[in-house]
Amino acid sequence: MAALNRRDFLKKFLKTGTTVMGAAVLAQAASKGLNRREPFAEAAGPEPEYEIYAAKYGGPLIRKVAIVLWNVGWDEDGPINYYVWAIKGQNGETIVVDTGASPAQAAARKVPGYVSPIEVLARVGISGNNVTKVIITHMHWDHVGGMDGFLQAYPKATFYVQRREFNFCVKNPVSQRKPIAILFDPLANKIVGDMERSERLVIVDGDYNLAPGVDLILAPGHTLGLQVVRVNTAKGPAVVGSDCAHVFRGYREDNPSVFIMDMPAWIQSFDKVKSKAAIDLIFPGHDVLMHQGYPKVAENVTRLV
Ligand SMILES: [Zn+2]
Repeated sequence: MAALNRRDFLKKFLKTGTTVMGAAVLAQAASKGLNRREPFAEAAGPEPEYEIYAAKYGGPLIRKVAIVLWNVGWDEDGPINYYVWAIKGQNGETIVVDTGASPAQAAARKVPGYVSPIEVLARVGISGNNVTKVIITHMHWDHVGGMDGFLQAYPKATFYVQRREFNFCVKNPVSQRKPIAILFDPLANKIVGDMERSERLVIVDGDYNLAPGVDLILAPGHTLGLQVVRVNTAKGPAVVGSDCAHVFRGYREDNPSVFIMDMPAWIQSFDKVKSKAAIDLIFPGHDVLMHQGYPKVAENVTRLV
Protein backbone atom coordinates (compact mmCIF):
# COMPACT_ATOMS: atom_id res chain seq x y z
CA MET A 1 0.00 0.00 0.00
CA ALA A 2 2.95 2.30 0.37
CA ALA A 3 3.61 3.95 -2.94
CA LEU A 4 6.97 5.55 -3.30
CA ASN A 5 7.03 8.17 -6.00
CA ARG A 6 9.83 8.42 -8.48
CA ARG A 7 11.31 11.58 -7.05
CA ASP A 8 11.42 10.20 -3.54
CA PHE A 9 12.89 7.02 -4.85
CA LEU A 10 15.60 8.91 -6.68
CA LYS A 11 16.31 11.00 -3.63
CA LYS A 12 16.63 7.97 -1.39
CA PHE A 13 18.64 6.15 -3.95
CA LEU A 14 21.03 9.05 -4.41
CA LYS A 15 21.51 9.24 -0.67
CA THR A 16 23.00 5.77 -0.76
CA GLY A 17 25.86 7.14 -2.81
CA THR A 18 24.83 6.33 -6.35
CA THR A 19 25.51 9.39 -8.43
CA VAL A 20 24.68 8.20 -11.90
CA MET A 21 21.37 6.50 -12.48
CA GLY A 22 20.90 4.58 -15.69
CA ALA A 23 17.79 2.86 -16.94
CA ALA A 24 19.31 -0.52 -16.15
CA VAL A 25 19.86 0.45 -12.52
CA LEU A 26 16.30 1.70 -12.26
CA ALA A 27 14.92 -1.46 -13.85
CA GLN A 28 16.95 -3.61 -11.48
CA ALA A 29 15.74 -1.63 -8.50
CA ALA A 30 12.16 -1.83 -9.73
CA SER A 31 12.41 -5.60 -10.06
CA LYS A 32 13.40 -5.73 -6.40
CA GLY A 33 10.28 -3.74 -5.55
CA LEU A 34 12.21 -0.76 -4.26
CA ASN A 35 9.99 1.62 -6.14
CA ARG A 36 6.93 0.27 -4.39
CA ARG A 37 7.84 0.36 -0.72
CA GLU A 38 10.08 2.34 1.52
CA PRO A 39 13.21 0.21 1.83
CA PHE A 40 13.41 0.64 5.61
CA ALA A 41 9.81 -0.53 6.01
CA GLU A 42 10.83 -3.94 4.73
CA ALA A 43 13.47 -4.35 7.39
CA ALA A 44 11.49 -2.89 10.30
CA GLY A 45 10.38 -5.05 13.23
CA PRO A 46 7.33 -4.14 15.32
CA GLU A 47 6.10 -0.64 14.58
CA PRO A 48 7.50 2.00 16.96
CA GLU A 49 4.98 3.90 19.05
CA TYR A 50 4.30 7.60 18.83
CA GLU A 51 2.53 10.21 20.92
CA ILE A 52 0.16 12.68 19.28
CA TYR A 53 -0.18 16.28 20.45
CA ALA A 54 -2.79 18.85 19.48
CA ALA A 55 -1.36 22.39 19.37
CA LYS A 56 -4.15 24.98 19.35
CA TYR A 57 -3.19 28.12 17.49
CA GLY A 58 -6.59 29.83 17.43
CA GLY A 59 -10.11 29.82 18.83
CA PRO A 60 -12.57 29.36 20.21
CA LEU A 61 -14.60 30.75 17.33
CA ILE A 62 -18.37 30.54 17.65
CA ARG A 63 -20.32 29.56 14.56
CA LYS A 64 -23.44 27.62 13.60
CA VAL A 65 -23.20 23.91 14.43
CA ALA A 66 -24.59 23.17 10.95
CA ILE A 67 -21.32 24.40 9.40
CA VAL A 68 -19.32 21.65 11.07
CA LEU A 69 -22.11 19.01 10.89
CA TRP A 70 -23.66 19.04 7.41
CA ASN A 71 -26.92 20.96 7.77
CA VAL A 72 -27.63 19.79 11.33
CA GLY A 73 -28.13 22.64 13.82
CA TRP A 74 -28.65 25.90 11.97
CA ASP A 75 -30.37 27.19 15.10
CA GLU A 76 -27.51 26.17 17.40
CA ASP A 77 -24.17 27.89 18.08
CA GLY A 78 -20.99 25.97 18.86
CA PRO A 79 -17.25 26.67 19.19
CA ILE A 80 -14.36 25.47 17.05
CA ASN A 81 -10.61 25.73 17.51
CA TYR A 82 -7.73 25.80 15.04
CA TYR A 83 -4.92 23.27 15.40
CA VAL A 84 -1.74 21.80 14.09
CA TRP A 85 -0.64 18.39 15.43
CA ALA A 86 2.69 16.87 16.36
CA ILE A 87 3.65 13.20 16.24
CA LYS A 88 6.61 12.34 18.47
CA GLY A 89 8.25 8.94 18.28
CA GLN A 90 10.18 6.81 20.77
CA ASN A 91 12.80 6.80 18.04
CA GLY A 92 13.19 10.61 18.27
CA GLU A 93 11.27 11.27 15.07
CA THR A 94 9.17 14.45 15.18
CA ILE A 95 6.55 14.95 12.51
CA VAL A 96 4.28 18.00 12.34
CA VAL A 97 0.85 17.79 10.74
CA ASP A 98 -0.16 21.01 8.96
CA THR A 99 1.33 24.47 9.12
CA GLY A 100 -1.68 26.38 10.47
CA ALA A 101 -2.47 29.92 9.39
CA SER A 102 -0.10 32.80 8.75
CA PRO A 103 -0.34 35.82 11.06
CA ALA A 104 -1.60 37.89 8.11
CA GLN A 105 -4.40 35.48 7.22
CA ALA A 106 -5.33 35.00 10.86
CA ALA A 107 -5.69 38.78 11.20
CA ALA A 108 -7.59 39.15 7.92
CA ARG A 109 -9.99 36.34 8.84
CA LYS A 110 -10.29 37.51 12.46
CA VAL A 111 -9.17 34.25 14.10
CA PRO A 112 -9.67 34.80 17.84
CA GLY A 113 -6.83 33.92 20.19
CA TYR A 114 -4.29 33.45 17.40
CA VAL A 115 -0.79 32.39 18.43
CA SER A 116 1.82 31.35 15.88
CA PRO A 117 1.76 27.53 15.60
CA ILE A 118 5.57 27.60 15.64
CA GLU A 119 5.47 29.31 19.03
CA VAL A 120 2.91 26.83 20.38
CA LEU A 121 4.94 23.82 19.21
CA ALA A 122 8.10 25.25 20.78
CA ARG A 123 6.38 25.07 24.18
CA VAL A 124 6.77 21.27 24.03
CA GLY A 125 10.29 21.33 22.65
CA ILE A 126 9.35 21.00 19.00
CA SER A 127 11.59 23.41 17.17
CA GLY A 128 14.39 23.91 14.69
CA ASN A 129 16.20 20.86 13.39
CA ASN A 130 14.02 18.50 15.49
CA VAL A 131 11.31 18.55 12.88
CA THR A 132 12.12 16.17 10.05
CA LYS A 133 8.77 15.92 8.28
CA VAL A 134 5.77 18.19 7.84
CA ILE A 135 2.55 16.77 6.41
CA ILE A 136 0.25 19.09 4.48
CA THR A 137 -3.16 17.44 4.91
CA HIS A 138 -4.77 19.82 2.41
CA MET A 139 -4.28 23.28 0.99
CA HIS A 140 -6.82 25.40 2.85
CA TRP A 141 -5.65 28.64 4.47
CA ASP A 142 -5.93 27.29 8.03
CA HIS A 143 -3.84 24.15 7.28
CA VAL A 144 -1.14 25.29 4.84
CA GLY A 145 -0.99 29.03 5.58
CA GLY A 146 2.09 28.76 7.76
CA MET A 147 4.38 27.55 4.94
CA ASP A 148 6.55 30.64 4.88
CA GLY A 149 7.30 30.50 8.60
CA PHE A 150 7.64 26.71 8.71
CA LEU A 151 10.25 26.60 5.94
CA GLN A 152 12.42 28.93 7.97
CA ALA A 153 11.65 27.54 11.43
CA TYR A 154 12.30 23.90 10.47
CA PRO A 155 15.20 23.97 8.01
CA LYS A 156 15.64 20.18 8.00
CA ALA A 157 11.98 19.39 7.34
CA THR A 158 10.65 17.77 4.18
CA PHE A 159 7.02 18.59 3.30
CA TYR A 160 4.50 16.02 2.01
CA VAL A 161 1.38 16.75 -0.03
CA GLN A 162 -0.86 14.58 -2.20
CA ARG A 163 -0.50 14.96 -5.97
CA ARG A 164 -4.25 15.42 -6.49
CA GLU A 165 -4.28 18.26 -3.99
CA PHE A 166 -1.17 19.86 -5.44
CA ASN A 167 -2.31 19.61 -9.05
CA PHE A 168 -5.76 20.97 -8.38
CA CYS A 169 -4.78 23.82 -6.07
CA VAL A 170 -1.66 24.86 -7.99
CA LYS A 171 -2.39 24.04 -11.63
CA ASN A 172 -6.13 23.88 -12.23
CA PRO A 173 -7.70 27.28 -13.04
CA VAL A 174 -11.03 26.06 -11.64
CA SER A 175 -9.44 26.22 -8.18
CA GLN A 176 -9.13 29.98 -8.64
CA ARG A 177 -12.90 30.47 -8.88
CA LYS A 178 -14.47 32.25 -5.93
CA PRO A 179 -16.18 29.46 -3.93
CA ILE A 180 -12.96 27.43 -3.95
CA ALA A 181 -10.33 30.15 -3.83
CA ILE A 182 -11.97 31.79 -0.83
CA LEU A 183 -10.57 28.93 1.26
CA PHE A 184 -7.01 29.45 0.01
CA ASP A 185 -4.08 31.46 1.28
CA PRO A 186 -2.67 32.58 -2.09
CA LEU A 187 0.84 33.16 -0.72
CA ALA A 188 1.01 29.68 0.82
CA ASN A 189 -0.26 28.03 -2.35
CA LYS A 190 2.32 29.93 -4.39
CA ILE A 191 5.10 28.80 -2.04
CA VAL A 192 4.01 25.15 -2.33
CA GLY A 193 3.70 25.51 -6.11
CA ASP A 194 7.19 26.98 -6.35
CA MET A 195 8.53 23.99 -4.39
CA GLU A 196 7.46 21.52 -7.08
CA ARG A 197 11.04 20.66 -8.02
CA SER A 198 12.51 21.28 -4.58
CA GLU A 199 14.07 18.50 -2.54
CA ARG A 200 11.99 19.77 0.36
CA LEU A 201 8.64 18.83 -1.18
CA VAL A 202 7.51 15.26 -1.77
CA ILE A 203 4.37 14.91 -3.87
CA VAL A 204 2.70 11.66 -2.90
CA ASP A 205 0.36 9.53 -5.00
CA GLY A 206 -2.12 7.80 -2.71
CA ASP A 207 -1.39 5.88 0.49
CA TYR A 208 2.22 6.15 1.53
CA ASN A 209 4.43 4.76 4.29
CA LEU A 210 6.03 7.90 5.71
CA ALA A 211 8.03 6.27 8.51
CA PRO A 212 7.81 3.00 10.45
CA GLY A 213 4.40 3.20 12.13
CA VAL A 214 3.26 6.33 10.28
CA ASP A 215 1.22 6.21 7.06
CA LEU A 216 -0.32 8.91 4.92
CA ILE A 217 -3.83 7.87 3.87
CA LEU A 218 -5.50 9.52 0.89
CA ALA A 219 -9.01 10.52 2.00
CA PRO A 220 -10.60 12.92 -0.51
CA GLY A 221 -13.97 14.59 -0.11
CA HIS A 222 -13.43 17.71 1.97
CA THR A 223 -10.90 18.58 -0.74
CA LEU A 224 -9.90 16.56 -3.80
CA GLY A 225 -6.62 15.36 -2.31
CA LEU A 226 -6.95 15.51 1.46
CA GLN A 227 -4.75 13.07 3.34
CA VAL A 228 -5.00 11.87 6.93
CA VAL A 229 -2.24 10.29 9.03
CA ARG A 230 -2.42 6.83 10.55
CA VAL A 231 -0.10 6.58 13.54
CA ASN A 232 0.88 3.64 15.73
CA THR A 233 0.45 4.56 19.41
CA ALA A 234 0.49 2.83 22.80
CA LYS A 235 -3.30 2.51 22.47
CA GLY A 236 -3.09 1.02 18.99
CA PRO A 237 -3.54 2.73 15.63
CA ALA A 238 -4.80 6.32 15.73
CA VAL A 239 -5.67 8.74 12.96
CA VAL A 240 -4.93 12.45 12.74
CA GLY A 241 -7.88 13.13 10.48
CA SER A 242 -7.61 16.86 9.85
CA ASP A 243 -10.79 18.09 8.13
CA CYS A 244 -12.05 14.70 6.95
CA ALA A 245 -14.46 15.55 9.76
CA HIS A 246 -14.41 18.87 11.64
CA VAL A 247 -15.67 17.46 14.97
CA PHE A 248 -15.79 14.07 16.76
CA ARG A 249 -19.56 13.95 16.20
CA GLY A 250 -18.89 13.84 12.45
CA TYR A 251 -17.35 10.37 12.78
CA ARG A 252 -20.00 9.15 15.22
CA GLU A 253 -22.95 10.48 13.23
CA ASP A 254 -21.69 9.73 9.72
CA ASN A 255 -21.90 13.40 8.86
CA PRO A 256 -19.23 15.75 7.49
CA SER A 257 -18.95 19.51 7.63
CA VAL A 258 -20.61 21.63 4.95
CA PHE A 259 -17.20 22.12 3.31
CA ILE A 260 -17.29 19.11 0.98
CA MET A 261 -16.02 19.20 -2.60
CA ASP A 262 -16.94 15.60 -3.45
CA MET A 263 -19.57 13.91 -1.28
CA PRO A 264 -19.42 10.39 -2.79
CA ALA A 265 -15.63 10.43 -2.36
CA TRP A 266 -16.06 11.67 1.19
CA ILE A 267 -18.36 8.79 2.11
CA GLN A 268 -15.82 6.28 0.80
CA SER A 269 -12.99 8.09 2.59
CA PHE A 270 -15.02 8.13 5.78
CA ASP A 271 -15.39 4.33 5.68
CA LYS A 272 -11.69 3.98 4.86
CA VAL A 273 -10.60 6.23 7.73
CA LYS A 274 -12.89 4.48 10.21
CA SER A 275 -11.37 1.14 9.19
CA LYS A 276 -7.92 2.36 10.28
CA ALA A 277 -8.51 2.99 14.02
CA ALA A 278 -11.00 2.78 16.87
CA ILE A 279 -13.43 5.69 16.67
CA ASP A 280 -12.13 7.28 19.90
CA LEU A 281 -8.69 7.45 18.30
CA ILE A 282 -9.75 9.27 15.14
CA PHE A 283 -9.10 12.95 15.69
CA PRO A 284 -11.04 15.62 13.78
CA GLY A 285 -9.85 18.96 12.44
CA HIS A 286 -11.46 21.58 14.66
CA ASP A 287 -13.16 20.07 17.73
CA VAL A 288 -12.70 22.07 20.96
CA LEU A 289 -12.79 18.75 22.83
CA MET A 290 -9.21 18.09 21.71
CA HIS A 291 -8.28 21.02 23.93
CA GLN A 292 -10.58 20.15 26.83
CA GLY A 293 -10.71 16.41 27.29
CA TYR A 294 -7.02 15.47 27.25
CA PRO A 295 -3.96 16.07 29.47
CA LYS A 296 -2.61 19.58 29.07
CA VAL A 297 1.16 19.47 28.65
CA ALA A 298 1.77 23.19 27.98
CA GLU A 299 -0.26 26.29 27.28
CA ASN A 300 -2.48 25.46 24.25
CA VAL A 301 -1.00 21.94 23.92
CA THR A 302 -2.72 18.65 24.85
CA ARG A 303 -1.54 15.07 24.49
CA LEU A 304 -4.22 13.15 22.60
CA VAL A 305 -2.58 9.76 22.96
ZN1 LIG B 1 -9.76 23.39 8.58
